[in-house]
Amino acid sequence: MKVTIVGAGAMGCVFGARLASAGATVRFVDVNEAHIEAINQNGLECALDEGRFTLPLTASTASNAHGQSDLIIVFTKSAHTEAAIASVKHLIGDETYVLTLQNGLGAVEKIAHYAPRTRILHGVTTVPAELLGPGKVESKGKGKTQFYAVTGAPAVLSAIEQLFNKAGLETVADEDIEEAIWTKVIFNASMNATCALLDTTPGPLGDTQAGRDLAGTLVEEGAAVAHAVGVNVDASSVHAMTNMSMTQHRNHQPSMLQDLMAGRQTEIDDINGAIMRAGKEAGVETPVNETIYRLIKIREAL
Ligand code: NAD
Repeated sequence: MKVTIVGAGAMGCVFGARLASAGATVRFVDVNEAHIEAINQNGLECALDEGRFTLPLTASTASNAHGQSDLIIVFTKSAHTEAAIASVKHLIGDETYVLTLQNGLGAVEKIAHYAPRTRILHGVTTVPAELLGPGKVESKGKGKTQFYAVTGAPAVLSAIEQLFNKAGLETVADEDIEEAIWTKVIFNASMNATCALLDTTPGPLGDTQAGRDLAGTLVEEGAAVAHAVGVNVDASSVHAMTNMSMTQHRNHQPSMLQDLMAGRQTEIDDINGAIMRAGKEAGVETPVNETIYRLIKIREAL
């Protein structure tokens, strides 16, 4: 399978490295020149659970990538999805599928400007990844990937499922994908944004009753919106996830906290912002998500 990874950061590199090791023909497309040059000159240096190794892979900017792909995986941060997919529209042929496993809601709508919905796949992943520097990626610990087609059930689902599992990425083609996507976005709206705003990690947040109440209210608001748009999210399982995060991942720095600390734009528009907008359309009030959204927007601008 010819696979193009658009957004060859932490996640893109881990998925790309694993898929290449499983026999896929992988190329990376990114905008980071130093990272592109490092991959092309020295290969992609990987530190995975099974050990350290370097893969001779290639990377380029979109304008230097040619030839259509069987599968394009979009792995930018959500704010860059539209620009990224627009830049690779020449790589999308009549039989190309486009997969997004990014956090947040709304990537499908952006991708749908450039590929028919019948060839868009979406999902979620808990695979952990960190970019250590140009051309260097680390992933420690297991994760699970769930995905499905936006419409229909094309044969490509099982081909991708098999390839990903062969690559060591535990993956399931899951018909209830909307539920999985909303469950993750509600969890992120509750924990990521709150930790980012308060400059803390899940442990100290959960050590206070106020922190637990705030996280809980965000979950309830998100679940009410999900139900209003017809997605059957089980709020109690999201509460269990936030509780586990507060007790077992006490010192984990959520990506939104890392983004604010590094002065980068966060994914707030597609997390709390997306829940807020969906709530408005469905007639469900989301005052706490809206407040958190505004506070993060102010932090981004400071
Ligand atoms: P990242 O910042 O490490 O990588 C994003 C990459 O996209 C960067 O290399 C950047 O240069 C590139 N990019 C930006 N604009 C582009 C454009 N126009 N065209 C092509 N490339 C462009 O981010 P990440 O941590 O890999 O996260 C990617 C997505 O996966 C996010 O939605 C994130 O929330 C989600 N996610 C991350 C993790 C994790 O552990 N890192 C886990 C689960 C989900």
